[in-house]
Amino acid sequence: MSFETLGLSPALLRALSEQGYDTPTPIQAQAIPLALAGHDLLAGAQTGTGKTAAFGLPLLQKLSGEPNRTRKPRALVLTPTRELAVQVHESLRDYGKYLRVPSTTIYGGVGMGNQLQALQRGVDLVIACPGRLLDHIDRRSVDLSGIEVLILDEADRMLDMGFLPSIKRILAKLPRQNRQTLLFSATFAEPIKQLALEFMRNPQEVMVTPQNTVAETIAHRVHPVDGGRKRELLLHLLSADARAQTLVFARTKHGSDKLAVFLEKSGIKAAAIHGNKSQGQRQRALNDFKAGRVPVLVATDIAARGIDIDQLPKVINFDLPMVAEDYVHRIGRTGRNGSQGEAISLVAQDEAKYLRAIVRLLKQDMDIRDVPGFEPQTPIRWGNSAPGKAEQPGGHRAPRKPHGKPAHARRPHGDAPRHAHAGPKKHGERKPQAPQRGPRRDANRNG
Ligand code: AMP
Repeated sequence: MSFETLGLSPALLRALSEQGYDTPTPIQAQAIPLALAGHDLLAGAQTGTGKTAAFGLPLLQKLSGEPNRTRKPRALVLTPTRELAVQVHESLRDYGKYLRVPSTTIYGGVGMGNQLQALQRGVDLVIACPGRLLDHIDRRSVDLSGIEVLILDEADRMLDMGFLPSIKRILAKLPRQNRQTLLFSATFAEPIKQLALEFMRNPQEVMVTPQNTVAETIAHRVHPVDGGRKRELLLHLLSADARAQTLVFARTKHGSDKLAVFLEKSGIKAAAIHGNKSQGQRQRALNDFKAGRVPVLVATDIAARGIDIDQLPKVINFDLPMVAEDYVHRIGRTGRNGSQGEAISLVAQDEAKYLRAIVRLLKQDMDIRDVPGFEPQTPIRWGNSAPGKAEQPGGHRAPRKPHGKPAHARRPHGDAPRHAHAGPKKHGERKPQAPQRGPRRDANRNG
């Protein structure tokens, strides 16, 4: 399969070939012909699957095909975060470099001036976060009555972040007739399906990544450690492999700041990215990391959402996420396109329950091994990690090895590998639905 066979224009094909894309990814192969034919699409695809081009190429083709006789935007892409808006904009500019499709981004945390100017000049394409777009709607600086294509990117994330009411307000401003709607989401919990039912016309479904899976090329490793020694262990791991670009996840904004400062003081260049940083600071940190000027980026889940980093070899979970699904999102940044990736989690006793949930969700074994010199003072009580079995209260066993030998019988060496069991895979079993979560008000809300 090549891009030529998908029906894309020569100008797009030329840009793609300059980008080094020669084969469409599975989501592109499925979604592009349907979108070009004008269908509404419900697309199941995570970051890293090539979803931006999957909606971006047909979008650019449509916009460049007919001149805009009004000054009103003809297409709207909604994204949950500023970073994703910027990234989508950059990608679409690359894909559309031989076309004339004036575009702008709209997001909060920056002044209104540039956005107002761009809207006044007239753009065909707006890539926006819901909150700031509503500000523009309220002050009538944007007119959405000419929108022909609407794209909801990472729809599940937007809902998680409490944007559903904003999205509905925005949708009410769009024409219903002759509008094409493409909804991209990693998961399809009930509210997403409702949204699709309400606002889409006979959508075609395309799914590429089964829910809650991560690339098979990723090695998942868990290092048990006392909570108070995590920083030291992180330093030890980073120093041992100083060349690898590493994305470190911390649970809180404050925690990620403190960690970045600690690493800097310890001689490792690091930047933090989270919702309390200004847009400029976040973009700078991201650029420095992407360019390799800063080898370690410490991030919170929301700030890192949708960040696209090519060839990221390593993710370290300094804290495990409380919601197992976030593990998948974190790890989705490594091991892309068949490259090898490493996902390392530092797990303290009070996080054992989160690890169990992650193992159950992934249905994948994890390699649990102590780092010599950092063994926890009291062995971690993993409980019974095998999913499907009832949790054994007060479970005191470490996860068992595949052949059934209890883990407490492990060799005395600190680095002896053990495994957290994912349990037997049932054939044809349905993937679990993403847990439904309420709006995360603590998150940095964009837009
Ligand atoms: P996305 O899921 O849109 O964030 O894309 C993930 C990464 O894959 C980005 O770095 C894209 O530049 C890259 N990519 C997208 N489509 C292709 C393709 N057909 N061939 C090679 N790389 C691609």
